[in-house]
Amino acid sequence: MSKNFFDILIVGSGLSSLVFAEEFLKKKTKLHMISPQFNNKNENKKKSNVDYKTFPPQIKKDFNQIQDYFNYNKFIFDKKNCNLLGSLGFGGLSNYWGLQMDRDNDSDLNSFGKKTKEQIIRSFVEILNEKSLSGSFKDYSNNFEMDSFYEGLLSTNKSEKNLIIKKSLLALHDFKKKGGELRPRLIFKKIKSKLVIHNYFLEKIEKKGSLIKLYCINKKKNKIFLTKKLILAGGTLSTTKLIMDYLNIRHEVPIKHHPRLTSVYLGRNKISSKLNMTPGLFQIKNTKESFSGDIRPANEMIIDISLKIYSIMRPLRSVLMFFKNYIFFSNTLLGSKYSNLFIKKKKDFFAIYSKKKNTLKILKSKQSIILSYLKNKKIILPFYKNFFPGIGADYHYFGTITPGNSKLSVNNNCQLNANKSIYIIDGSVINFKKNLYPLGFVLANAKRIAKLFSK
Ligand SMILES: Cc1cc2nc3c(=O)[nH]c(=O)nc-3n(C[C@H](O)[C@H](O)[C@H](O)COP(=O)(O)OP(=O)(O)OC[C@H]3O[C@@H](n4cnc5c(N)ncnc54)[C@H](O)[C@@H]3O)c2cc1C
Repeated sequence: MSKNFFDILIVGSGLSSLVFAEEFLKKKTKLHMISPQFNNKNENKKKSNVDYKTFPPQIKKDFNQIQDYFNYNKFIFDKKNCNLLGSLGFGGLSNYWGLQMDRDNDSDLNSFGKKTKEQIIRSFVEILNEKSLSGSFKDYSNNFEMDSFYEGLLSTNKSEKNLIIKKSLLALHDFKKKGGELRPRLIFKKIKSKLVIHNYFLEKIEKKGSLIKLYCINKKKNKIFLTKKLILAGGTLSTTKLIMDYLNIRHEVPIKHHPRLTSVYLGRNKISSKLNMTPGLFQIKNTKESFSGDIRPANEMIIDISLKIYSIMRPLRSVLMFFKNYIFFSNTLLGSKYSNLFIKKKKDFFAIYSKKKNTLKILKSKQSIILSYLKNKKIILPFYKNFFPGIGADYHYFGTITPGNSKLSVNNNCQLNANKSIYIIDGSVINFKKNLYPLGFVLANAKRIAKLFSK
């Protein structure tokens, strides 16, 4: 048997892939993974008072990994039209993610049917338990404490004008319990002796009899892999492109996402986070329509990162540090019905673009609703500054190949309907209509699919 022939191959080293691998390797002895790390040696190693070791290359100002992602995937986009992010580094986008998950809105899983939905939720609760994450979800409770003013607000948690305050579910472990954060490198450390990583980029897939043929490249050579089963976990943009190419789909495909507006507010009460990293501690959610704002206090690390990006503000560091517990960052996120990204094959490239003109206007109108709520509840002073990062700069890409009967669809086991040997386990398979933080259920679904292989 050729050594390039496998029973199962998984593509990508992001969290969907690693959570799959961790579950799969509970019962199996080896898993082969295809994931490129082209520019790893170029990472910026400058000394700093912040621990940048685990930070993604973009923050370390190493943009090569990101450029590689767009070049090798043959994506083109105009920065004036949209602002995308992807990385070919180990861990992909999952290195960057903000550690926040929605606590509810499992209605988004309805397209899988009742039984599958229950299995995904069960897998989600298992992830919460295994990793001892902070927050609560259904019967899982491992809550974190905030200052009494905010705990008070949450305890009088009535919906007003369709808005409700909720604690987020955070992918941080409770320091009192054993557990682990949901970080690619931490999962990798646990399973690395059973994982074989092939340092290749997957360019194209083809059907070859009952097998799948994978055309792969790296900086030195080309290589062909053959596999009985292929698990695609390269992130929504990459997976969608590979499948569009495989199925020869030439029409435009909408990419679902959550348009985002970032705001900075000044808090009336201090909020001292006891967490190392500061994701959104609580969310103000609309119960009728899908949009939300979160509140994440600044801390030394966030201020230092911001000053790295906005270097013009560096002289203000000591002032910002003094007020850090009163500076709140917030993201207003819109539901996927406001998605404004599209992908279409153009000659040898895949163009990604936006079309609708009103996204920023809608974001501002929803942010003003969140703002009034924050003012009425006396959470902030009436000052704010908005930053629009661009269409697509929410980095939540999903919902392109969902369960259904169309050509571009999967069945309940996330097998591509056009070829049941291809499984898709990243965000492509779920359309998050209400849930504004997709990763929790994406990972739960990846874990569920891994269980199918150990039966
Ligand atoms: C700054 C930021 C903050 C975020 N915050 C949150 C949050 O708080 N909550 C939330 O739910 N979501 C958040 N997200 C979104 C979240 O990070 C992504 O949904 C998630 O990481 C996707 O995981 P994935 O495993 O599907 O893909 P990725 O993490 O993108 O991994 C894809 C993998 O595939 C590899 N790859 C890509 N193309 C190929 C190819 N052709 N061949 C071989 N390998 C390939 C990449 O190298 C990578 O290893 C955030 C994202 C960013 C950038």
